Amino acid sequence: MHAPTAPLKPSTGHCIFCDLIHGAAEVSICYEDATAMAFLDIQPVNPGHVLVVPREHYEVLQDMPKTLATHLFEVALTLIPAIQTASGAPDINVVVNSGAAAGQDVMHYHIHLIPRREGDGFDISLPFGASLMPNRQQLDGMAARIGSMLRDPLARGGQKKS
Ligand code: AMP
Ligand code: ZN
Repeated sequence: MHAPTAPLKPSTGHCIFCDLIHGAAEVSICYEDATAMAFLDIQPVNPGHVLVVPREHYEVLQDMPKTLATHLFEVALTLIPAIQTASGAPDINVVVNSGAAAGQDVMHYHIHLIPRREGDGFDISLPFGASLMPNRQQLDGMAARIGSMLRDPLARGGQKKS
C-alpha cells in the first residue's frame, strides 16, 4: 500500500472535502478504507452520484502519487456495479475535472461516478461541436510530441513517482 508523501495544502485555505473526511461536516459515506473515501454528491446529476476522494488533500490528478490515484480508480470500479444496482440507472459517466480550467470547483481531487439514464438532461457533449478539426498531419504531429515527452524523463518534469 502507498505511504503518502506530505500532502499539498489547499491553495485557497479551507477545504470542504477535508472537513467531510475529518468528521467536521455532514456527509453520506458509501465506502471507506485507509486511504480513500466515497460519499454522495449533495447536488447529484441523478440519485447515486458518488464522489471518490483520497483522505489526504491533493488538489489535482497530477499531484496524486500514482499508487493512490490507481487505488481510487480501483475503488471506483468496485463501486460502479453497486451504484448501478442501487440507483437503477443503466449507464455511468466517470468524470475527473482536474484543474480550474477543466471545471474543478472543489480543489480536493475527486472522481465523479454519475449514474445516467436516457433523457436525464445531463450532457458531456463529445465529440466537441466547436472542434478546430485538425488534419492528419496535425494529429500525427501531436501524437509524436506526446510520444517524445513519454520517452524523455527530463521533459516530463513533474511526473509523480509510484
Ligand atoms: P467539481 O466541479 O468537479 O469540483 O465537483 C465538485 C462536486 O462537489 C459538485 O458536484 C458538488 O455538488 C459537490 N459538493 C460540493 N460540496 C459538497 C458537499 N459538502 N458534500 C457533497 N458533495 C459536495
Ligand atoms: Zn481537502
